[in-house]
Amino acid sequence: MYFLKNFKINFLVIGVTALLTTTTLARNSDDDKTIHRFHQSLLTIDSHVDISREYMLSDDFDPGLKTHMKVDFDKMKRGGIDGVFFIVYVAQKKRDAAGYHAAYLAAMKKFTALHKMLDEDYPQQIKLAYSPEDVLKIHEQGKLIAMIGVENGYPIDHNLEILDQFYHLGARYMGLTHSGNNDICDSSSPSSKLGDNKNEDKGLSQFGRSVVKRMNDLGMMIDVSHASDQCVKDVLTLSRAPIIASHSGTRALMNHPRNLPDELLKQIADKGGVIQIVGYTGFIKADPARDKAFEELEAKVASHYHAREFSYKLHENTPEYIAGTNQINKDYPLATVQQYVDQIDHAVKIAGIDHVGISSDFDGGGELRGWEDASQSENITRELLRRGYSKTDIQKIWSGNLLTTWKKIASYRLKSLK
Ligand SMILES: [Zn+2]
Repeated sequence: MYFLKNFKINFLVIGVTALLTTTTLARNSDDDKTIHRFHQSLLTIDSHVDISREYMLSDDFDPGLKTHMKVDFDKMKRGGIDGVFFIVYVAQKKRDAAGYHAAYLAAMKKFTALHKMLDEDYPQQIKLAYSPEDVLKIHEQGKLIAMIGVENGYPIDHNLEILDQFYHLGARYMGLTHSGNNDICDSSSPSSKLGDNKNEDKGLSQFGRSVVKRMNDLGMMIDVSHASDQCVKDVLTLSRAPIIASHSGTRALMNHPRNLPDELLKQIADKGGVIQIVGYTGFIKADPARDKAFEELEAKVASHYHAREFSYKLHENTPEYIAGTNQINKDYPLATVQQYVDQIDHAVKIAGIDHVGISSDFDGGGELRGWEDASQSENITRELLRRGYSKTDIQKIWSGNLLTTWKKIASYRLKSLK
């Protein structure tokens, strides 16, 4: 009898558990469908996606094909990503005539690749937006939206006409600097190799002031990601228009010079700007062992190719570097989507719900557990919903805030230039 009673109770418990599990599963898949539908209904923009030097030059870097890139058309569609800012990035090198010339050519190579994609190869699938109004129009046409940002003002040399040329080619934001100081302003990561003084943050230079003024006149967004704190302060003081951080994190949660302190988050917001929180593990969680593993991998790959030092240009797509990176990601896990959304939470707390957005830095080092490429972008929306963000707020974060800021900045364009 006791056995039977016990058996019945056990059976009941198992039965109830099974019932609960079935209900939970049913509810989960209903939830998933609802989240999927909601995410697909959003207008989503990722404000920072890098492109390779080989972009549109080989099948491996052709976004119209199935590729290993983190962003291609198929991954954008599967992940419900409607638009991205493709980045014309040039690394900081010597500030001499040869360096400036090479930097200009490197920038033009990327502009050419993007226009080949847009004008020649895939005009039916993707279109360049020159304005926030274009973004909405292209979205209505059912095409993917391309936008262009420049990362590092180094390739404009000391020549504002090159800045104008980049604008005419479609660039709508320019990050003033990158790793290593340049002639526009100091970097959040000065380069001792280039002879920078790490302890002296001079902020914006005299030439940098003319760049800020010209960008205001053009109605072009000034991007302060990678800039030193003093540079951000100088730009906030000088710029007539709001400014953006196209891919930055919050220093209060992760103490890294690339991240913005609360004081600057607040000042960017007070001026009407937006901070696009970046999905880059190194700016989200501290992991010295992971950093060390990357240093060792880079040294190993360089020596394998008999090079004096590791070079992204030469080595980032080698099988040895790719395999090593995968192993490091296994040994020292990437930051999670939850940790990423912690950054969004903090930025919203300090800057306000109208001044925060999303950027992946995909194909430029950005990668999270749960947001490994554009196809997994729905996971960000799921986490925002789980934390109680309203649908209206999620739309603001995914593009509304950036578009509002862009529109304000564009309104500063000189009437004489129209
Ligand atoms: Zn960057």
